[in-house]
This record gives sequence, structure tokens and C-alpha cells, in this order.
Amino acid sequence: MRIATITNATPDSNIYANPVYFWLRSFLDCVHPTNQVQWCSNIWAFKSLDEAVEQTLDTAPEIILLSIFVYNQGETEALIETIRQKTSTVKIILGGPHINGRDPLSNFDSYPEVDAVVYGDGEEAFLGIVKRWEQTGTLLAGINCAVPGEAGTYKRFKWEEWPTFTNYAGALYEEWKLATQECLNVYKNDEFGRIAVQWPTETNRGCPYGCTFCDWNAGLHHKVTIRPIEAVYAEIDAFTEVDGVVLFITDANFFQLKRDEKILEYMNKKKINYKITAWSKLKKDKVYEYFIKNLDRVQEMVEKNYLNGQPGVGRAALQSIKKETLDAINRPEIPWIKHKQYIQEYIKTRHHQIATNAEIINDLPLMTDYDYLWQVLELYDAGIETIGFYNWEFLPNAPVNNSDYLDKWNLTVIDQITVWNLDCIKNTRQPDYSKINYYEMYQSKIVVDRTRKHPNSFGTITHQLLNWCHENKKDFKKEVSMKLDFMLSLNGIIDKQIKNQYTPGGQLLWGLYNPMSKNISEVGTTIQQYFSLYSKNPNILTVKHEQRDAMHELVKQYVPYHKYTKLFKEVS
Ligand code: SF4
Repeated sequence: MRIATITNATPDSNIYANPVYFWLRSFLDCVHPTNQVQWCSNIWAFKSLDEAVEQTLDTAPEIILLSIFVYNQGETEALIETIRQKTSTVKIILGGPHINGRDPLSNFDSYPEVDAVVYGDGEEAFLGIVKRWEQTGTLLAGINCAVPGEAGTYKRFKWEEWPTFTNYAGALYEEWKLATQECLNVYKNDEFGRIAVQWPTETNRGCPYGCTFCDWNAGLHHKVTIRPIEAVYAEIDAFTEVDGVVLFITDANFFQLKRDEKILEYMNKKKINYKITAWSKLKKDKVYEYFIKNLDRVQEMVEKNYLNGQPGVGRAALQSIKKETLDAINRPEIPWIKHKQYIQEYIKTRHHQIATNAEIINDLPLMTDYDYLWQVLELYDAGIETIGFYNWEFLPNAPVNNSDYLDKWNLTVIDQITVWNLDCIKNTRQPDYSKINYYEMYQSKIVVDRTRKHPNSFGTITHQLLNWCHENKKDFKKEVSMKLDFMLSLNGIIDKQIKNQYTPGGQLLWGLYNPMSKNISEVGTTIQQYFSLYSKNPNILTVKHEQRDAMHELVKQYVPYHKYTKLFKEVS
């Protein structure tokens, strides 16, 4: 049985490696040591998709494993297409969080060229695939594995049922070092100054909650299975010996388990580079204690550039701070007033340059434009300096994939292309749709307000103002006071452009005409450029907004010197 994997590390602030080979093979070799799999090729990072496919096919695999998630969706679809252009005989098995586990057979409508899909946890699915192939020489459905016409059966993985095994330490350690080197060779030291490869690891798997936007563990179970501590420590030990790696803990709720503090102590003692980003939603006392107590260690990693981008410390994944909205998305969270105090206390003790950051999702139920303004004022008051403001990505395994839920909150799902950079047709503002490619934009489904049918612009503008102020050392309160009318106008201008911006294929193009570069650019960057361009003459209001007066009253509560003029030019 000859198997190949093709995964591309995701170059973001650091290089995010895809662990699928190590996670699957380490389990398989542990529980089925006599397996007959010949791993003929593993590609970890590539810039040329054609070369990656050719290199793989040269090794004559019978099966290629691919892994799909929201941010590599376009690339993986292009991989499938390229493989199929070159051969119809190799079998393609597609796994990853983007495989719909609620309706496994529907994946063959979305990805008709694949021969099998793996949904939910991959370990036992893969073990079953190998055993069935060894017996029959074919791909058959089984645990968490569907083939056309047969859905297979769902089972959650539990570490407690299996012998202890490690992913990177032990037998695969040398291969893991080579894989790291391959990722570094392709993406290190490019213009973004990346120097490290982040390898995902888990100390437990699962989440007891069910936030409606989230597909944790493919959205199919919410129980937590706990990885043996010896395996956790062995992985940490392996990371002490390799340069250019960061252990990326992908637990859903770090500090939820008592032993997490011990794991953290062990990582600090071993001086490995690590990153934790998903904190316990309710044990915020532990989380902020960690932020305060581990400042120096985290600062060290930041200074060495291992924790490029937001390092996890000082990052609050909030999604929204409005209680009614949090209830509507089933989000467990401590009250905002308490959370705000934790952030303020942390800020008082902070003695490094790591900016505080909040993660916010757009278009959540019950959020109005007024609420977005209130939210950003509150976040600033708490001490938040930067905001990651995200459109609501529709994940097929998330609870939002339910028509009753969408109806209840007046939501709809649209196809969208998110643009970083797209040329316009010469001397016009018209996007050149022929230039759309997965390298410079990604295609996904987005949840938005049903009446509007495109992402809310005002939320994006308000949160970008905070980021712009942080970057340009401006006083946020002064700016929001001065620019509120301008922001409302900009909102109208963006809405007008976006709502008509559909590709010939019917996808909404989420990008803005950029007057500086004269192309369609990423929304956040373009909004920030507007702030710079118009900062000298911000009191322009050309579009009426029904919450305008209430917004001015709100700003007055946070900025006592705020005044608003009656200069008001309503456009027809
Ligand atoms: S967002 Fe976090 S708490 Fe909510 S379901 Fe997902 S992993 Fe669990």
C-alpha cells in the first residue's frame, strides 16, 4: 500500500506546519506495527503546486492524503484538480476540519474527484482504511470514513482506549526534523521575517461547549479526552533539541484542567518555544495569572522572533462582549465587567511591548452598528490595543449549519472571495475577475445578515480605527470623536461598493478599491489608508445613519470633550 501526503505549511506570522502525516502514522505504527504501508512521499511546503504534484506522482503512490480546512480550501481544491489533470488512477482521500461530518455523503458533491473522505478524528479512520485495504485492496467505508454511496460510522477518538504514543518524539523524530527544514527552506526569512515552524500538538482534545460559530473537533462531540502526560512531556522534550520550532498547543481551553499549570511549568523549565492561544473561557483567573507571571519568558520568545505576530499572551478571544449576543451563540464567558478588570490589572503589571489583542467576529446575532461602536470604546477602555476582526466563516461542522438557527437570527450564508490584492481593468475601478487565484485571495462561505447579504462594514471600520491608532500612535478617543461622521460616511461608501461586487460566478468579492494603488485591496488595509488620507478633514457626513445621534451621545460618555456639529449633508 503506497501512500503519499501533500500538505503545504501555511505561512502566516510564523510558518504553520500541517501535522497530518505525523499524527496519523505515529498512531498507526503504534497500534498496528505490522502494517504494510510504504510512505513513498511527503511534501511539507511548496510554492509551485504543479511541481509538488509531479514530484509526488513520480513516486507512484496508490493513495494521496490531502487535508482541507478553511484557510487552505482554495489551494486544496486546486491540488485535487491538478492531480486529476495528470492521473485518474491514484486514489485521493480528503480529510480535515472542512469535511462535513454531519452529512458525510454531501462531501462527494463538494469534492466529486475524491475517492474517500475522512470526517471527525482521523486516527481510527486511517487505521481502518489501512486494514481494509490490506484485506481487500480497495477503499471501503468504515469508522469516520465515507466512500461514494456509503457514509461509514462516526466514532470519537479517546486517548484512554489506546496505548501511549507520541507524534514527533520517538520513531518519527528524524523525519520531523527534515520536515521542519523543508518548511524553513521554503518560507523562512522572506519579507515577513519568519524564522520558526509551529507544529500543532494537543494535551487534550475536545471542548465541553458548543459555540455556534465553532467546529472544534469537527463539531461532532464536545467531550474531552486527555492525552497521557508522559506523551505530552516526551513531545516537549523533543522540542528542546531542534532549532526553529515552536510547540503550538491547540487545546480548546488551556487551564481548564488542573494539570495544565504543570505542563506550562515544564515547558518553561525546558525553555522550549511554545505558543498557547485558546484559553479556558471560564478560568480567566488562571489565564491572566499566566499572562502576568510568564511575561518574561514570553518576551524572550518574542524578542528572538519565535513568536512572530500575536504571541498568545494578552490575547482575549471574545467574539463579542454583548451579553445577549454571547447567549445567542451559546458562548460561555465570564461577565465582561469582570473580564475588563482582569485586562486592566494585567495592563498595570505589563512591562513589555506585547500589544493586547481582542478577537471579534462580525455579524453575530443582535449586534447593531451602535453596538460595534460601544464595543470598541469598551475594549479601548479595558486596555485592548489591537483587534482581530473577522468575518463569520461558515464551517460545515459548526452548529450554525442549521436552517432553524439561521432563520431565528435572520442570517444567511454567502459564497465570498476575500481579496488581498486584485488588479483592476486598466484605468477603471472594475476588478479584473480573470486574475482571481487562490494565492492572493481565498474562497469561503460567510455568515452574514440576511437582509444585507454582505458583511457588516461599520464593525470593520470601528475596529480598524483602533488598529490604525495603535499603529500610528494616535489617541483613539480623540480620533473617534473627530472621525465619527467620516466613519459613517465611509460605511455608506463601502456598502455601496461591496453590495454590487459579485464575480461572474456569483461570489461576493470582499475587497475595496484602493485609491493609492488603484487596485482592489484587502478591506482592513484600505480602510486604514482612508483614515490616513482623510485625517485632516474628517468632519464630512454624506450618508445618513439612523443611529447617528445615539452614537454621538455614546461617544460623549467615553470622551467628555466630544462635540458633534450639525454639518449634515444628506445625499439623495
Ligand atoms: S469557541 Fe472555544 S469554547 Fe466555544 S465551542 Fe469552540 S473551542 Fe469550545
